[in-house]
Amino acid sequence: MLALDKLNVWYGAAQALFDVSLQVAGGELLVLQGLNGAGKSTLLQTIIGLGPRSTGTIRFEGQLITQWPAQRRAQAGLGYVAEGRRLFTGLSVQENLRVAARGDIAASEAWVLDLFPVLKTMLQRSAAQMSGGEQQMLAIARTLMTQPRLLLLDEPCEGIAPVLVENIVQALLTLKAGGTALLVAEQNSVLANRADRVSTLVAGQLRV
Ligand code: ATP
Repeated sequence: MLALDKLNVWYGAAQALFDVSLQVAGGELLVLQGLNGAGKSTLLQTIIGLGPRSTGTIRFEGQLITQWPAQRRAQAGLGYVAEGRRLFTGLSVQENLRVAARGDIAASEAWVLDLFPVLKTMLQRSAAQMSGGEQQMLAIARTLMTQPRLLLLDEPCEGIAPVLVENIVQALLTLKAGGTALLVAEQNSVLANRADRVSTLVAGQLRV
């Protein structure tokens, strides 16, 4: 589904990633570990087309997408949830879901609410009045409204209560069972323990 070959990425003169190659198959959960500053966010941003200057190739479902702008990658089936949740806090839960939707909104909404039942109980609530963990669920649910086939998540469990972490892990395992490919930057070992594979970035280089 996703194949990276020898990605090198620079912020100005400073190189952040060195010859990173990896593959993620449909229905596979790959957890990316690494210390702060190792390059996890940079790698995810490069895959979705929002990274800085890079060389190397990115293939998605057999197509060479390296030169595609971010919007085209999203339309092709890449979904991304940034670190730290970027919600529309002035909108309700339901409005947050609906602004992101493509295609059959009602069907997508029913599907994501089944994945995150907690959100069903607070559809009219302002996103500003949710806990951090609830907001993280909403951020993931909102991205899922676009029905991505590859989901990239940046630290989805960071700073979240254990019970909600378990909810998120369960939702990700359900997505995986449905064939979605998952690449998740995450230090939390709860997710790494359930992954098909764990790779570690060390100072911009991948240790498989
Ligand atoms: P964290 O978990 O702290 O976000 P990370 O593993 O995601 O860490 P990155 O944020 O990808 O790491 O950072 C990789 C390297 O790139 C670091 O050396 C960082 O200082 C540098 N870097 C990140 N963003 C920028 C930027 N906008 N401009 C310059 N350098 C950057």
